[in-house]
Amino acid sequence: MEIINKFLSENEYTHPHGRKLAEKRAVILHWVGVGGQKALSVWDYFEHCCAGKTYASAHYCIDLDGMVYRFIPDDDVAYHCGSSQFDPISKRIYTDWARNIFGKYAEDPKHNSPNNAAIGIEMCVLDADGNFSLETLRAAAELTASLCKTYRIPIERVGTHHLVVGWKDCPRLWTRYPEKFEEFKKEVSALLNK
Ligand SMILES: [Zn+2]
Repeated sequence: MEIINKFLSENEYTHPHGRKLAEKRAVILHWVGVGGQKALSVWDYFEHCCAGKTYASAHYCIDLDGMVYRFIPDDDVAYHCGSSQFDPISKRIYTDWARNIFGKYAEDPKHNSPNNAAIGIEMCVLDADGNFSLETLRAAAELTASLCKTYRIPIERVGTHHLVVGWKDCPRLWTRYPEKFEEFKKEVSALLNK
């Protein structure tokens, strides 16, 4: 796995100046949402389209060829799994899963957010169904395992955006087929046990 640093400029909406993660409790996986979009185009979107408009970013983005780009240093806050809408099942802002993992970071959306305690990984996809290339999947497993090792995050705290907020089909493939996410976690576990 090769990681290229391609940091986003400091900006309130993407890479807020001086805002550090309070803790690293979880690794949260996402899809970029557009079939065929490459990581540098995702970088462009965060860098140029979000600034001044939308809170959105992630620490990493994994390209279709498995190249890993680091958009935001691990210690800084990125905006990838916060919410102001209600989870349809728990009827709270964050799901039971999120409140269990994040505790205070998922209890009071006005003053806190899981973004203060999560590392976010965006994954490029081949098509609108959200299918991943083998290269993207392999690099995502390697990156997730390496973050889990470095920050002592157990596999139970590897989740999807959908698992945090409930209403979002992100990544779409793993929202539709949760068993495929379980397979992914098995691959991460195997790397952790090596
Ligand atoms: Zn997402």
